[in-house]
Amino acid sequence: MDNGKEKLGIALVGLGKYSEELVSALQETKHCRLAGVVTGTEVKKEKWKNKYDLPDRNIYDYKNFDSIRENANIDIIYVVLPNSMHAEYVVRAAAAGKHVICEKPMAVTVDECDRMIDACKKAGVMLSIGYRLHFEPHHLEVMKLARQKVYGEIKTIEAAHSLSNPAGWRLEKDLAGGGPLMDVGIYCVQAARYVTGLEPIAVEAFEGSKKNKEKFKTIEESLTWRMEFSNGVVADCSSSYSKAENYLKVEAENGWFELSPAYSYRGIKGKTSDGKMDLPEVNQQANQMDDFALAIMNKRLTPVPGEMGRQDLKILQAIYHSMETGKRIEIENEQLALH
Ligand code: NAD
Repeated sequence: MDNGKEKLGIALVGLGKYSEELVSALQETKHCRLAGVVTGTEVKKEKWKNKYDLPDRNIYDYKNFDSIRENANIDIIYVVLPNSMHAEYVVRAAAAGKHVICEKPMAVTVDECDRMIDACKKAGVMLSIGYRLHFEPHHLEVMKLARQKVYGEIKTIEAAHSLSNPAGWRLEKDLAGGGPLMDVGIYCVQAARYVTGLEPIAVEAFEGSKKNKEKFKTIEESLTWRMEFSNGVVADCSSSYSKAENYLKVEAENGWFELSPAYSYRGIKGKTSDGKMDLPEVNQQANQMDDFALAIMNKRLTPVPGEMGRQDLKILQAIYHSMETGKRIEIENEQLALH
């Protein structure tokens, strides 16, 4: 399938807003290219076919999607659908013998994540999650500062990521699996994990009061939560659909470092107690997709595998459990961190 090719072919599934971002990144990739699309909308088929010069045989809909198996131009399927649809399309992509990138959150339950991981293992294909910040210099620097204890032991972490004015499927629990926590709060969970290099042993969460009860009927409008780690570090986090927070702050024994804005596609800025971080801006999505293509070509692991997405889901479920019961929830960690 991917033997001897200079660039692997990617098919995007679901041509919404984020796929527009990905297709522009694909103009900058060195090891992969846009090879096909999967969409249920006729107008989009025409638009993408003409704009990106795609042959008809590489354009699929959700019904004939499984026949993508016969298409040697497509090596990787990138699932960019609403969250509750990820599991079905990852399993179908694996059954078609294609490597898979799945957008975050990986799915809406841990059970779904297990099915997705199993399906990819069985089919002998690789699975990665669209965690673009693992390929972004400021986040890599934060990981390094923390791991190398440049400012001594980490004491506390504060992380917040919010989005204002969500619409469409993001407001429906059936499709989104939850509210801002699933959508943008997940970045804070990720950051706390990669700053500490540990898994949380317990979480405690509180739902914020709803200003718009009608709009946020089935999901939380906002929440705050604390993650506790085995070394005593705590991460205090916040996520909302009616604010504009976007930062990561780390206090260590002998100094501090922070990113603000922290989680955006562009314009991430960092500071430490010694001054500004002077790091280049990169195309995160291009780096992420290129790294996955190289992982496939060189038969090595991806740094952002399905197991990482599954672990996040496990933490997100514990956070919701705490928010709903008002209890501190302990998390059993049966596996080591995969960073
Ligand atoms: P979007 O609403 O813009 O696009 C979703 C696409 O799915 C649309 O093309 C829509 O037509 C299609 N779709 C198919 N069946 C649907 C259904 N039953 N209901 C609604 N839409 C349906 O959403 P988006 O912002 O592109 O998000 C898609 C995925 O990408 C989500 O999982 C989201 O979390 C993820 N995402 C990731 C990032 C990131 O930075 N990694 C950023 C944005 C979105």
